[in-house]
Parts: sequence; C-alpha cells; structure tokens
Amino acid sequence: MQGAVQSKLPGLGTTIFTEMTALANRHGALNLAQGFPDIPPPQGLVDAAVRALHAGTHQYAPMAGRGDLRAWICDDHAERHGAAYDPELECTIGAGASSLIFAAIQAFVHPGDEVVVQTPAYDLYGPAVQLAGGRLIEVPLLDTEGQWDPEALLGAIHDRTRLVILNTPHNPTGTVCPPGFLDALADHLEDKPTLVLSDEVYGPIVHDGRTEISLATHPVLRERGLAFGSFGKLLQVTGWKIGWAVGPAALTTELRKVHQYDVFSTGAPLQAALASFLPSTEGRNHLDGLPAMYKAKRDRLLAGLEGTAWEWTPAAGGFFQVLDARNLIDGDDDHWAREWTRTHGVATIPMSAFFTPPTPQLRICFAKQDATLDAGIERLRHIAADHVC
Ligand code: PMP
Ligand code: GLN
Repeated sequence: MQGAVQSKLPGLGTTIFTEMTALANRHGALNLAQGFPDIPPPQGLVDAAVRALHAGTHQYAPMAGRGDLRAWICDDHAERHGAAYDPELECTIGAGASSLIFAAIQAFVHPGDEVVVQTPAYDLYGPAVQLAGGRLIEVPLLDTEGQWDPEALLGAIHDRTRLVILNTPHNPTGTVCPPGFLDALADHLEDKPTLVLSDEVYGPIVHDGRTEISLATHPVLRERGLAFGSFGKLLQVTGWKIGWAVGPAALTTELRKVHQYDVFSTGAPLQAALASFLPSTEGRNHLDGLPAMYKAKRDRLLAGLEGTAWEWTPAAGGFFQVLDARNLIDGDDDHWAREWTRTHGVATIPMSAFFTPPTPQLRICFAKQDATLDAGIERLRHIAADHVC
C-alpha cells in the first residue's frame, strides 16, 4: 500500500524561474526570465577549474569550505567593508547562497517564531520559513512612491520577532537599501531578540554612484546576523553553485550544524579554481569592473526601449530591470509573460509571481551579451508596438 503524502508545502508548484525557462526552451524564445548571465566567465577562472580537475581535486572539500577560499572571502570583506571576520570560525562556504540561507532559516527559526520579510521577495525565503514552522510576516518593501519603506519594516518587528530577512540589491525590484537604514534597524533591534539575515548576492553591483550596503559594515548588526554572497553572480557561473555566509562565531556554529547535514561540502575543484583565480590580477580586475559592466547593460536596455510604451524606474542595483506594462495591458502579467514567450519570442518574469503588483510588471534579466540584449530589445519593442492601447 502506498503511504498517503501529506505535503509540508501544499499549494507550492515549481518556481516561476523553472517554468519560464522551460517555456522559453520549448518555444525557442530568448530567456530574459531566469536570472543567469549568458556572458562567459573570465577565461582565467575556467582555466583554473580545468587545472584543478587535472590536478586530481576530486574528493570532499572541508565541511566549512576550503581554508584559502574562506581566507579570501574574509580579506575581501575587510578590504571592501572594513569588517573583520575569522575565516576559521565566522565564514562558511555552501552550495550557492541558497543552501546557506535555507540552512540559516532552519537553524534559527523555531515553530511559531515570527520572521519578517519585505515583499516582493526572492521566492526561497517563504517556503524555508514554512518548513521550519515559522510564521512569515510580510511587509511591503516599497512605499507608494516606489522608495524603500523603512517604517513598514520596523513597525512589524517586535519582541517575538526571531528573524528579519533583508535583500540588497534587491531581487526582483532592482532597488537598494537606502543609506541610514541599517542604523535605524540597529536602533530598533536594541532591546529585541531578533537576528538578521542579509542576502547580498548582488552586493557590489550598485549603479549610478550608489554605495554598496552590507550588514558587515555595521558594527552592531554585524554581531546580530549573517551576510550571504554568491560567486555565481560575481563571476557569471551560476551553475557552479558556490556561495558563502559570514557572521559571528556563535551564529556560524549553529549554521554549520545544519549545513553539515544538508550539503556537508560542495564543489571541491570549483572551490580550488576560485581560490586560485580570485587573488589574481584578472580576478581583481573582473570584480572591480562588475558595477560598470552591469550599468552599461542596464543603460543599453533602457536606451533601446526609449520612446516605447514600456515604463520604468532604472534599476539601482543588481541585474534585473522591472518594466511597467500598464500602457500595454490591463492586468494579468502572468498570462502575458507566457503569451509573449510564445508569440514574440522573449521570456520574462511576471512580477505577480512574487506579490500583487500595483500595475502589471515584468522582470527582465539584463546580465546578457550585447547581442542577446539587442535581440531582446527588438522583441520588447515589437510587443509594445503590437499592444499599445
Ligand atoms: N538570493 C537572491 C536574491 C537571488 O536572486 C539568488 C538567485 N540566484 C539567490 C539568493 C541564490 O544564489 P545562489 O545561486 O548562489 O544559490
Ligand atoms: N535567482 C534566480 C532569479 O532570480 C533564479 C534561481 C532559480 O532558478 N532558482 O532569477
């Protein structure tokens, strides 16, 4: 007899990223939906991975990650954020930032605990909180002017709040945390038992002269939480799934208790490649050039859409641009995102997959080669021309 399945996540299907990628592939459409670059990674990184394979790096990496790669991550935090983390006790490498964010939520959230998340939010947090038995408290990320709304977040945090999850630069909105926000959060948390998880996978990718914001830079919040990063985003290798978490030893100890049983360790030859490539001149130049590269991509996309019925606020960070389709359609961005994949050959992510947007909106990934972007622009222009009311 088959046992009855009692889903722990009833009502949850496959992610919108998986669905839209499958639809794009089925229809031979350009995939501006799922967030992956089609820009090749730096050649020196690929060469280092090949070398690591030939050198026989095939067995388990250490549970917390390679020591030299953790040392690089901590040195980089010291250099960019003036934040000291001990590579032995305060840094962990996992299977992408995803595995570590998931592990942290399982490590810290007890049944019934409240977890505050700004919406729209990256789709991992909610199900992870649900599996831990926590109560997700959703607050709007943006106010009616489209600006971060610190008051909405702070107003939801009280004595029973176990966790707050931040994400900057933000997926899917492309906004970034305003300066001063971390000070306000730190003041508000002073007498509360709340920890902070800061998803910074797009960390250094901030546009138009904005400052990168990291939990690590804040002396009080640094002691209160973990910050997460991803080499997938920084080096155009999302398929490698190598990410990190930094945070105080007491929190890292609890994180590793979960990490050692869900993932244990990840991608030994890829960690070796990262450890040898990142300190090189090519590695440093690549990371230094990242914000300018993505700003140019964003600007190319937006210049290409100039004069059409699409509306937007330029992305402040990351590699996603939200396009407002209010001049094109009445509503139901989900329907139209799927339809346009079939009819106009371009796949995007409907923002209604994340929340109830005030107007129909699509998320575009602009981490693409110029030729891909230009083809995408042409198709988006056709959509606008065919639909303008
Ligand atoms: N957080 C955010 C906000 C993301 O967009 C992503 C997506 N890729 C992740 C976490 C996961 O990162 P990784 O691929 O390193 O697991
Ligand atoms: N982070 C990617 C995005 O936002 C998706 C990752 C995934 O497919 N799970 O598009």
